[in-house]
Amino acid sequence: MSGLVFVVSGPGGVGKSTLVAELMKRDPELWLSRSWTTREQRPGEAPDAYHFVTRAQFEAHIDAGGFLEWTNFLGNYYGTPQPNPPAGKDIVLEIEVDGASQVKKQHPNAVLIFVLPPSREEQRARLNARGDDERKVDQRLRKAEEEEPVGMALADHVIVNQKLEKTIADMLGVISDARRNR
Ligand code: 5GP
Repeated sequence: MSGLVFVVSGPGGVGKSTLVAELMKRDPELWLSRSWTTREQRPGEAPDAYHFVTRAQFEAHIDAGGFLEWTNFLGNYYGTPQPNPPAGKDIVLEIEVDGASQVKKQHPNAVLIFVLPPSREEQRARLNARGDDERKVDQRLRKAEEEEPVGMALADHVIVNQKLEKTIADMLGVISDARRNR
């Protein structure tokens, strides 16, 4: 791994996937890692949003040393396979805080951007729009309360996702600063 590593983290419903998709469109030097998960595919979710696997497949990949980091998040496994980006590309990981902290330990130069929601109401609305049931939405909001202080302490940059365009501009700024200081 010779490129930079950018970790985008933040609680569910903060808009991470939208932000990361925009970054990928705008910056051809970035390479997005595709995570493995044992969670079921959501209705309407792109089939390539994750590599969807069974618990047995995931556990076999843990045993084979196939993950850079992995965690159990609300009852499902999520993990980043050992990255193999094309030469010259910088890596982007979109992961929760436990994974972000594992990556930081292995790659202290990784740049961690922690994204916060503008408010709990906005976050709840975004989680609802995704089609999860009320119980799952409540679970994810409670999890967010836990994740935020940890993520903020770990982060190199904390960004409140108030307006998409502004957030993207801030993130692109962080990326170009990191490249300048490489
Ligand atoms: P979701 O089920 O909403 O897609 O993802 C749940 C949480 O897991 C989100 O915070 C998401 O960023 C995180 N996540 C996705 N992929 C990975 C991964 O490979 N590793 C870790 N640690 N977290 C991940």
